[in-house]
Amino acid sequence: MEEMLAIPLEQLRGVGPKTQQRLNEAGFFTVGSLLSHFPYRYGDYTPTPIEQIQDAEKITLIAEIVSAPIISRPRSKILVKFNVQAYGIVFNVQAFGRPYLAKQFSSGQQVLVTGKYTAKNQSIALDEIKIYQVEQINEFVPVYSLPHGMKQSYFRELIEQALGLYSQQLPEYIPQDLRERYKLCTFAQAIVWIHFPKTHQHLKHAVRELKYVEFFLFELKLAAKSQCQKQNTYTQPKRLDMNQIDKFSAELPFTLTSAQEKVVREIFADLQAPWLMNRLLQGDVGSGKTVVAAFAMLATATSRQQSALMAPTEILAQQHFQSLQQFFSSTQLKLALLTGSTRVKQRRELLNSLKIGEIDILIGTHALIEDPVLFAKLGCVIVDEQHRFGVKQRQKLRLKGEAVDVLYMSATPIPRTLAMTAWGDMDVSVIDQLPAGRKPITTKVVTKKQWNEMVGFVERELANGRQAYIVCPLIEESETLDVQNAMELHSTLVQTLTNRRIGLMHGRLIPTEKDEVMESFKAHELDVLVSTTVIEVGVNVPNATVMIIYDANRFGLSQLHQLRGRVGRGDHQSYCLLVGPGGQSESHERLKVMEKTTDGFEIAQYDLEFRGPGDFFGAKQSGLPTFKLANLIEDQVILNYARSDAYAIVYEQRLTKVLQMYLEPLLKAHQQND
Ligand code: ADP
Ligand code: MG
Repeated sequence: MEEMLAIPLEQLRGVGPKTQQRLNEAGFFTVGSLLSHFPYRYGDYTPTPIEQIQDAEKITLIAEIVSAPIISRPRSKILVKFNVQAYGIVFNVQAFGRPYLAKQFSSGQQVLVTGKYTAKNQSIALDEIKIYQVEQINEFVPVYSLPHGMKQSYFRELIEQALGLYSQQLPEYIPQDLRERYKLCTFAQAIVWIHFPKTHQHLKHAVRELKYVEFFLFELKLAAKSQCQKQNTYTQPKRLDMNQIDKFSAELPFTLTSAQEKVVREIFADLQAPWLMNRLLQGDVGSGKTVVAAFAMLATATSRQQSALMAPTEILAQQHFQSLQQFFSSTQLKLALLTGSTRVKQRRELLNSLKIGEIDILIGTHALIEDPVLFAKLGCVIVDEQHRFGVKQRQKLRLKGEAVDVLYMSATPIPRTLAMTAWGDMDVSVIDQLPAGRKPITTKVVTKKQWNEMVGFVERELANGRQAYIVCPLIEESETLDVQNAMELHSTLVQTLTNRRIGLMHGRLIPTEKDEVMESFKAHELDVLVSTTVIEVGVNVPNATVMIIYDANRFGLSQLHQLRGRVGRGDHQSYCLLVGPGGQSESHERLKVMEKTTDGFEIAQYDLEFRGPGDFFGAKQSGLPTFKLANLIEDQVILNYARSDAYAIVYEQRLTKVLQMYLEPLLKAHQQND
């Protein structure tokens, strides 16, 4: 928004070199930047009641000037002094460095005066003075965060002056039709009102308009970027064999949920479009992302190209390999698995078949991005648990082909618009529905005092042949945090459940050790797995029915939801116990949300409200933009409208002149990047 008025500050009256430097230091370089610095609150001119007139940073009086202002020059400064009278009391008003006041005001005038009051000599160090008008009392007075060493009243005057001189020149960003649709005021009006609202209604209008403008301009850039990207990746569309795909679909052991179907359609549209797919697929744990990936890979194969699926751990890669082999058992497709532990000879053969195009689908870990891995014709890349890979790693896999469609998958449900805003350059698909017939996991919030009952409960499930996870947040005792220690818990359990096999997994183990422990749990060589959060990622052990999470209050709800998703993957009823502080605490209330819902998106929404967006976008990934007035969480409805409006305008080429000018730098940069 700052770019709205690129007028230099020295155009403003009274801004000398010193003031200008102060403004520059605070980040103000143009009139536009000044006007887009909004008040952080509003005061008013309500007169201070007589009984509250005592030493104070600010009092406000409606008063009569009772002695003409006189100028004196104590110690080379300029001081204007006069007396005013209010409540029958005479106050000495003093103003430094403002000689013009002597000309503007004279004895007998009714004025509104604000300033710092010192009771000892009944003096007011003047802040503001104006001729009194009844309606001023209810006016809002903007209060700004200020450049160093600047006064509120001075800054306010600058803004007032800037508005007076230039508000006519403010651009109109929002096209007429949209402004009418949403009954928005003009941008110029909103800027005037956000600084100097005369009524609550003004302020409401201004805020509503400006929030929309902020989102709209932001989304407009995203839309333009996405359009450039599509133009830049202009490519031969894939030619899918729908017969083969329908046949595959018919032979699956289940029918797709309608959410899955919709996403498959979105992916197919990308594959068949003359640009490359760059899509994020979000779906709750167990929502069935793998089979969607299978459709993408099959479709790619029918277009005679290869696909690669990369997962963050060996176990996950194996799991994918197994499920995909099952899915594709009715087809002629050739699948292969490549991980760090693939034997040398097998690896050599595999790489060779891959290079001559005998392998249709390669599944694996980071091993896929190593240099010797060469494809005959790579056409599609799928990255599972995408946040576990760095940007470079994802790039590297994509660059193993010439024109590669990319699908990223994530099990962290984030409200859709938020995701699209954070990962602005990606299209986003969402599977917001679980396959029918899933038994919801029974969840209960408990406290450590209920230890014996918990152990009893675990023992009953184990006696039925089931398995249990127990998760606690840190592996070492930390006195300050008082976090349950995984090792300690492990040894306690070994002593309690004497005839059970209890495993331990934590972040200190090297990856192969982790995989070994996980494998034995999967193979039911262990009954209980005590673990730190390292089991978080999509491991599938359908026989596990109990998930106990210690110090659950230390986790975000979305994280708890991920962990809970490790159970409930088989036919048996599953349980999740969240061990929290209990009592009336806020964190107890927060945990209670988990008892009420198993919908990952709903949970993500709670998390956003309780903890802010930080949980979803670790500092590293935080692509989240900041806005002046708009709030990504509270104003999602506005965001949704602003986004679809902005995209429609860009894609239907309905940019107004103002918007074209606004986007110009971005479009130029994109052309240079080609
Ligand atoms: P996630 O999205 O967590 O990766 P998966 O792809 O592992 O989920 O799917 C979880 C389980 O649900 C798998 O066993 C899968 O075969 C099964 N599944 C997927 N889609 C459906 C469906 N439409 N109907 C029934 N079961 C399904
Ligand atoms: Mg998965």
